[in-house]
Amino acid sequence: MALTLKDMVALLDQELQPGQFKDYCPNGIQVDASVSPDAPIKKIVTGVTACQALIDKAIELKADALLVHHGYFWRGEESVITGIKRRRIESLLANNISLIAYHLPLDAHPVMGNNAELARLMEWTSAGGMEPGAKLPVGNWGTTRSELSLASLGQEITDKLGREPLLISGGNHAIKTIAWCTGAAQSMIDKALALGVDAFVSGEISESTVHFARENGIHYVSAGHHATERYGVQALARWLHNETGIEHTFVDIDSPV
Ligand SMILES: [Zn+2]
Repeated sequence: MALTLKDMVALLDQELQPGQFKDYCPNGIQVDASVSPDAPIKKIVTGVTACQALIDKAIELKADALLVHHGYFWRGEESVITGIKRRRIESLLANNISLIAYHLPLDAHPVMGNNAELARLMEWTSAGGMEPGAKLPVGNWGTTRSELSLASLGQEITDKLGREPLLISGGNHAIKTIAWCTGAAQSMIDKALALGVDAFVSGEISESTVHFARENGIHYVSAGHHATERYGVQALARWLHNETGIEHTFVDIDSPV
């Protein structure tokens, strides 16, 4: 089945329900670079962030579209198209590579979302969302496969994500219950504390997170923003391939953060 850009995004929207979220960026088509409205999408490249290196790779792989978690046009950012933003958009338009981005809908999807995929990879069982009562929660809490020390949780994360996390100890207690939210959700540590879990895992960390964890007796793990958000977009592309036959390649442009 040959799908146009509009058809493909309609299918993705139906699955991800972006209208249900108050997001910081537009979800769905961000740059329409199709040759014509009825041009078929045969091949997509996926990645975490639509940086220049990822675009260059998509050009090399002759992709019709780039599907990412972090696109452009963030709330509060300069709306003019200059500098690196001009270069990125110029590369996309000149090579007829459309840009599609899903931010919060791809964090929150209960099966293919970044949080669901991180839990699957780490073998954590979800008991619910971090925000009680939220219909489409971003971030979950639940249990680890077995009781772990903070050091052994750190080792498991290193093994599975290929990146050594930063571990902030909240005391000597073992970890059985855990909350997690991929990306830059370190400020949600207060929600993890309210849930009463032994440890909270997110991507990034702030200076204040260290003291919050130590003084409240909750372990904190900064496992990397990029490292925790590699998996949702890949699951989404696998689903899209099964639904439509569209070819996909994930390109990992490494980021230490
Ligand atoms: Zn993110």
